[in-house]
Amino acid sequence: MPIKRKLSAARAAFLITLPALAVASTSPVHAEPTAAATRISSVLDRGYPALDALYKDIHAHPEVGFQERRTATLLAARMRKLGFTVTEGVGGTGVVAVLRNGEGPTVMVRAEMDALPMEEKTGLPYASKAKQVVDGKESFVAHSCGHDVHVTWWVGTAEALMSMRDAWKGTLVFVGQPSEETVGGARAMIADGLFTRFPKPDFAFAAHTSNMPAGMLFVKAGVSSSAADSYEITFHGRGGHGSMPNATIDPIVIGARFVSDVQTVISREKDAAAFGVITIGSFQAGTVANIIPDDAVVKVNLRSHAAAVQQLLKDGAVRTANASAAMAKAPPPSIKPLSGTPALVNDPDLAKRMADKLMPTFGKRLIFVPATVPPASASEDFSEIAEAGIPSLMFGIGSFDPVMIADYQQRGQPLPVNHSPYYAPQPEPTIRAGVTALALSVLAVAAPR
Ligand SMILES: [Zn+2]
Ligand SMILES: [Zn+2]
Repeated sequence: MPIKRKLSAARAAFLITLPALAVASTSPVHAEPTAAATRISSVLDRGYPALDALYKDIHAHPEVGFQERRTATLLAARMRKLGFTVTEGVGGTGVVAVLRNGEGPTVMVRAEMDALPMEEKTGLPYASKAKQVVDGKESFVAHSCGHDVHVTWWVGTAEALMSMRDAWKGTLVFVGQPSEETVGGARAMIADGLFTRFPKPDFAFAAHTSNMPAGMLFVKAGVSSSAADSYEITFHGRGGHGSMPNATIDPIVIGARFVSDVQTVISREKDAAAFGVITIGSFQAGTVANIIPDDAVVKVNLRSHAAAVQQLLKDGAVRTANASAAMAKAPPPSIKPLSGTPALVNDPDLAKRMADKLMPTFGKRLIFVPATVPPASASEDFSEIAEAGIPSLMFGIGSFDPVMIADYQQRGQPLPVNHSPYYAPQPEPTIRAGVTALALSVLAVAAPR
């Protein structure tokens, strides 16, 4: 089934901001790695050069959503070599790798494979110079959101768990997901039988790079990212001469009314204390000054945390669009949903349990943020897994060289966070921390009874 989804303005990123560090650091000062963490560390000592090479290879060969063919082939081969049963082409370019190791829970580890249609400007020796055709136009492509780190964690975690098969029992389902940035990849894999063709997970883990110092681990209970919904709204008018507006129905005026009136859904209908954003990212209409066009096309993006607010914004946007057209005696607009994903909710019990399990290893490098602290406003389609009823947890993993952070702070410049053309994670401590967190989490839920 060909999957065609436009890269929309609703690009997703899971960003964790530095001020959050001040919110909830309750960690003890000393870390005393557990026996399991020590074993993972020695697997990493042996395997790190190969992981580093894999990371730099994927970084230099990025691919945008639903075009991750080289990446998927590479990952599938690595997992087959480890002994996993691998299925490719799930939900487009997705990879599902399954490994059974006796009676026990089914645990998913998910990484997203896609890059962004943008030019990398880091100047790193392994920087991307790649281009792909995106929405019909050739574009530079870069791993500026860290998904190349994520797939490296994914392979490293599989390697660690394979070499520690005596320490866990159950079934691993490793998911290489396409197209997170368009918030369409998780849904495409679920629609293609992720939970019916393969064992349905009892737990699911993922992690995202963040703008904290490399090696830090961020565990957020409860809501962790916003819901994102986008619509393309075509206002239908009746075109004509600019000098005779009475003989026309002007779709630009209807669209302009919608653009300003829809903000009252935020300012007058939504509880002022609840998070909600409406952004018009695109308004296309007309050609020259003296022709009133037939149509105006507006793209609107809605962000929310609570399901009730998400519904309020969706209803409000649709109602305002219909009313704007009705006021001008125009036919109803065509409203096409572009992409959407619910808010990511980290299972509060699982988050607390994992924070407790990982604390001895990470010590003061672990930040636990309770459900009461508001989440980031970005979106992440790992939410589809939790939405399917699977207790899920996405970690944030610091990816910046502390020297670089200090340098930017000293110069009073903002950090080049995810989606910046200068985004450059520090490979080794970031890769080691992610593998350690994900492997320890699987071991914690799949320890033999
Ligand atoms: Zn992103
Ligand atoms: Zn991302």
